This record gives sequence, structure tokens and C-alpha cells, in this order.
Amino acid sequence: MELEIVTIGDELLLGFTIDTNAAHLGRELAALGVRIVRRTTCGDDADSIKAAVRDALERTGAVITTGGLGPTADDMTKPAIASIFGQGMRMDDEILAALRARWLKRFGHELPASNEQQAMVPEGCTILPNRHGSAPGIRLEDAQGRWVIMLPGVPREMRGMLADTVIPALRDRLPTNGPVIRSKTLRTANIAESALADRLGELARGVNGLSLAYLPGSDGVDLRLTSWELEAREANRTLDDAAAQLRAKVGRFVYGESDDDLAALMLAECAARNATVAVAESCTGGMLGMRLTAVPGSSRTVLGGTIAYANAVKTRELGVSAEVIDAHGAVSEPVARAMATGVRLRFGSTIGLGITGIAGPDGGTPDKPVGTVWVAIDNDGEVHAVRAVLPGDRHEIRWRAAQLALDRLRKAFLREQDAEGWTARG
Ligand code: ATP
Repeated sequence: MELEIVTIGDELLLGFTIDTNAAHLGRELAALGVRIVRRTTCGDDADSIKAAVRDALERTGAVITTGGLGPTADDMTKPAIASIFGQGMRMDDEILAALRARWLKRFGHELPASNEQQAMVPEGCTILPNRHGSAPGIRLEDAQGRWVIMLPGVPREMRGMLADTVIPALRDRLPTNGPVIRSKTLRTANIAESALADRLGELARGVNGLSLAYLPGSDGVDLRLTSWELEAREANRTLDDAAAQLRAKVGRFVYGESDDDLAALMLAECAARNATVAVAESCTGGMLGMRLTAVPGSSRTVLGGTIAYANAVKTRELGVSAEVIDAHGAVSEPVARAMATGVRLRFGSTIGLGITGIAGPDGGTPDKPVGTVWVAIDNDGEVHAVRAVLPGDRHEIRWRAAQLALDRLRKAFLREQDAEGWTARG
């Protein structure tokens, strides 16, 4: 099945709102086997909405819109689209009663008159209930089977309705063994795109007839395999097999799959080992602590941390010797090591992580350019340190430094496994 998406809203055109609805629809519908052949964005005016939806309907016969359904939309979207189907508008008493009840319950007063238009619907439409918000979705279909589904713009509501009603209905219309577009992502850290391609050799151009995309970002390079033509079970099998082939070549750099967060994975590894963590951060200013404590349940593992930005604080709070700082500079291996050990001993954790670096844009020297970072890990007295020159702007450098520290923790766990004679995980 092919369809088009029309997202509605002036702020989308102005760039103040990022069109995450279209991205979400793309991913969800592709997984179902529905191909989105075009995405259009139009402003909040009746003529633009009508033209965009009419053109999409003429081309593809199947259209999903988001936005322009709420009380702030001046009642434009529904009548504009209804007119394409030659339909007028009517007040729906059931929706009106539900809106009134919702307002009384949630806000303790009567529904304002301006909100009543939310209960206006096109004649001959199907109403799609919205248990995530107030504006219901609407479905219109003509005699030739061409249809439009209108969903709210608020992402949480749009996603909820897509899952509740739209996907089940589309699934019923699709052949059971039809092709689906399905992807599998391997997440790598601390290896460049070109080095990955070198290690993959022949596989770099694609595996098992699947396409392979390299997606570099601040977390590392994601490798995404995509199956375009296979039915669901065959696609899953082929993707799993291809992912295993990739892991055989670059497994040590792969830390997870899909949306895996390295901080969450490392906390799970710490919990499995009864390990506790403390962090000493200079250039990241708490970012590593933020990432770790963002994970639910982190209080079992994370003891705390010190933002040791000034040299005096490195000395006073972490016991980093002033002479060592003078001799090597704040961004140096001995300082990173002393930070990791200092924070471990002061907080009484089993693991200490230290980060010191130059996030820029100022402060670089020929010896230590902007992006130079030293990360150290003290794992129960065994200390390892690594230097990297990280690319990007200030935010990216800081983010990559925190990710590097998490990846060093992963390497320390791999070393433990190797030492104990286990097979290193992929
Ligand atoms: P309401 O008027 O009740 O807020 P609506 O269905 O009319 O809902 P809009 O007014 O178009 O939707 O958008 C509501 C909010 O949802 C916007 O402020 C914006 O933050 C978000 N939003 C709208 N469209 C999108 C989109 N395509 N992608 C991401 N967010 C969106």
C-alpha cells in the first residue's frame, strides 16, 4: 500500500516545530509494509490545506494528515478537507457531551464556546476516538475508496491514535504475507566510519541483499541494515543473520542495538556485578552524571560525583596533586587518573570515572587542540586512561567525552570477561 502524509502548521514551515510526526509515521508505517511516497507540509490556512490534501489524494488515494484539529486551529482543517469530499459540517452531540464532561472533570468549569467547534465533524465521516486528548481523529472515504485520516498535531496524541486505531485498521487492509520495510540497527562507539568500513570489508556494501547505512552521530556510528522487499518473518530472519555477520567483524565496537543508551546498558552491567560508580567531571560539567542518573533505578548504582572545573577544586575535592597539575596541565593523563581514583576513594565506590578536556571554542594549543580529552577509569584499583581528540562544537565535544567515558567502562568490563576466560560479548 502507498500513502502520502500532509503535516499542517505554520510553525512547521517556520522551523520552530520539528516535524517529528512525519518521522514517526514514516517509521511505523514502513514497518507495517506501507510505503510513504511523499510528505507535504502546509501552513494553517484553508486554501493550502485543501490544495495539499486534494493533490495527495489525486496522486495516491490514501492520505494521513496531522495538526489543525484543536481549538486553536480556527476550525479550518476539517471543513477544508470535507469540501474535497463534497461534504458539509455537522455538530456531533456525542463528542460535544464528552468534551463538556472532560472539561468539568479536568478543569472544573464549563467548556468554553470557542472549544465547541472541536465537536464539529464532516458529514459522512467516521470518528476515531482519542483517549489521549480532546480532539478526535476523523476518517473520510469517497465512493472510489480514496480516503483521508486526520490526526491531531500533538505528538503524544498522534502516536497514541496511530497505535490504537490507524495501524490496526491498515493492517486489516494489507495482505498477510506482503513485503514490509524493516530495519535493524547496531550501535558502535569509539570507531570512525572509515575504520568500520575497512573492518567490514566485503560486507561494507551490504549484507544478504540488505542495504547498509552508516549513520554517524554524537553517540558513535550506527550501522542500519534495511530489508525492503521481504515479508515480515523472512525479513527478521535475514536481518538477524546479517547483524550476526557484522558483529563477527566489528563486534567489540558494538555496544547495543536500536535505541540502546550506553549509560543504561552500563548501569545494568554495574548492577549485575554489584559495582557502584562515582564520577569526577571537568569539561563535561556534570553531563556524565546527568546521563547516568537519567536512567530509572540508577540510585542503586550511582553514588554521586564532583564537578571539578577549577584546578583548586580538583585538588581540594579529589586530591589531585597541585604539582601534578602544574607539571602536566589540567588536561593530561596523570590528572585524569588522579580524578578517577580520587572520586572512587572519596565516594567509596568500586568504580571511579574521571574526565578532563578542552571543549572549546577557546583554550586549544598545538599540543592540546580543542577536543582533546583524557578519560580515566579506576575499577577497584585497576586504572586505565585514554586520550582522544573529539570533533564537533562545544556541546558535541562534551557529549562525546561522556560517551567515551561510558565506552571505557564497557571496555573495562570486556577486559574482566577476557581475564576470566569468557568469550567477549559481540
Ligand atoms: P491543538 O490545537 O489542540 O493544540 P492540533 O491537532 O490542532 O492540536 P496543532 O495546533 O497543529 O495541533 O499542534 C499542536 C502542537 O503539536 C504544536 O504546538 C506542536 O508543538 C505540536 N505539533 C504539531 N504538528 C507537529 C508535527 N508535525 N510534528 C511534531 N509536533 C507537532
